[in-house]
Amino acid sequence: MSLPYAPRFAFYDGKSQSGSSTSSFQTIDPATAKPVADIHTTTHSAIDAAIASGQKAFPAWSATPPIERARILQRAAALLRARNDELARIETSDTGKPFTETSTVDVVTGADVLEYFANLVGGGGLNGETTQLRPDAWVYTTKNALGVCAGIGAWNYPIQIALWKSAPCLAAGNCMVYKPSEFTPLHASVLAEVYAQAGVPPGVFNVIQGGGDVGAYLTKHPNIAKVSFTGQVTTGQKVAGSAAGGMKYVTMELGGKSACIVLPDADIEQAVDGAMMANFFSTGQVCTNGTRVFIPEAMKPAFEKRLLEKIQYIRPGDVSDPNTNFGPLVSKPHYDKVIQYIKHGITTDKAKLLHGGPETPSWLASHPNKAYQNGYWVQPTVFTNCTDTMKIVQEEIFGPVMAILPYKTVDEVVQRANNTNLGLAAGVFTNDLNSAHKVIAQLEAGITWVNTWGESPAEMSVGGWKQSGVGVENGRKGLEAWVRNKSTLVEMGGAVPTVFAKL
Ligand code: NDP
Repeated sequence: MSLPYAPRFAFYDGKSQSGSSTSSFQTIDPATAKPVADIHTTTHSAIDAAIASGQKAFPAWSATPPIERARILQRAAALLRARNDELARIETSDTGKPFTETSTVDVVTGADVLEYFANLVGGGGLNGETTQLRPDAWVYTTKNALGVCAGIGAWNYPIQIALWKSAPCLAAGNCMVYKPSEFTPLHASVLAEVYAQAGVPPGVFNVIQGGGDVGAYLTKHPNIAKVSFTGQVTTGQKVAGSAAGGMKYVTMELGGKSACIVLPDADIEQAVDGAMMANFFSTGQVCTNGTRVFIPEAMKPAFEKRLLEKIQYIRPGDVSDPNTNFGPLVSKPHYDKVIQYIKHGITTDKAKLLHGGPETPSWLASHPNKAYQNGYWVQPTVFTNCTDTMKIVQEEIFGPVMAILPYKTVDEVVQRANNTNLGLAAGVFTNDLNSAHKVIAQLEAGITWVNTWGESPAEMSVGGWKQSGVGVENGRKGLEAWVRNKSTLVEMGGAVPTVFAKL
């Protein structure tokens, strides 16, 4: 059977490597459960070859002046923007996200970050520091590229994650071997082609394909200098553990169970819009989702009334339709996991189901494309009167499942918001500037918002606290994660300070 997209292989030495595999699997369109491409798993010897390709390219790429690297990467960003809709369609086929979303967010926010880091290094972002110690001695520091780095991506923002990792990596003078999630692998070889077309030399950006075992082989490899990983906490723990043994640099972008706090003076309209973005955008498959929605008891009835009205604006359906704003979940295993959580919320946690549930969405029966009935569609779901000990409140579901938690006082809500091992994001809705900053200052999370949710521009450094991660991506600080420092003390006094002088 011919599939919509060409088969995918590893990409190294500047080209697609059809001999890099002895087995394959298929990637599936989540809207219809139909296969869209054959993906060829990269063998261990081909992973070795991809890393060797990076090692060969590293000396020249790291020695290329930053401004020249910047020019090449700026060309790649322009090519990505020119191919936005084509790439967005690929992402829609792979992730199930509506085209309205992939065409306005996924490629754009990836290209923005590429442009940001190109401009940053082109404008002196890799400069070190000098310190005059005394008139005849000074210290200078330089920022040095690390070598060949591993990038491991999750399935929720495939091309964006690939760019958030490769942009600072390449801009700083490193090479990368990137492994996309096996659930969403289509973008990776297209990105490699775009980089090559822009003038990125062979071996600087390489792709390997496959599941967790391929990722494990890559990240444990002795010739990998750094691992940048996006995924679940449990996988991140394994990857960081093995990287630590090899003294590799790591960046870990992991899961969350973030608190979305509506303060007593908040505007209901804003709070509802924010809570909906924090739970239903991308069908709830966003790491920074504010899935614990804390509402003052007195505001709960008004909040819920408006929420139920606005939920009607969620429009699932044909993923290419410009009005659709809600897609399916990414895969069958993930669908099963989310449905299990919804059932657990009803039967074991005994939270009150306000909207949705585990049943197949009713609109599917009358949808003209019958194949949609096989897709991984769920209902946006809201539980209310939740308590902190419920499993649906404690664990990351990574689906469109909101938990409403009533509270009495602001001190109480801060304490409850922080009562978790995770610390990725948090946010407050309020009209009181002082309360906003006081509460934000007390929240244990690396990414916080006031009166908005989810925007993560290239300029903003983002990373989790506690079990949600190590290090940051983006912003000026994001570049530091891809270099190592060298400090040099220069003595110009004409005599070496010594304690071994003749008495
Ligand atoms: P996983 O942890 O399952 O997988 C992430 C990546 O790691 C995939 O490419 C996976 O391959 C690979 N992998 C699996 N096992 C290993 C291993 N032993 N060694 C190396 N690599 C391995 O995460 P998901 O793909 O399910 O992504 C969802 C998670 O990602 C959520 O928890 C979400 O919160 C988090 N996330 C965090 C973000 C952040 O910035 N903090 C952003 C986006 C998502 P394969 O998929 O092929 O099995």
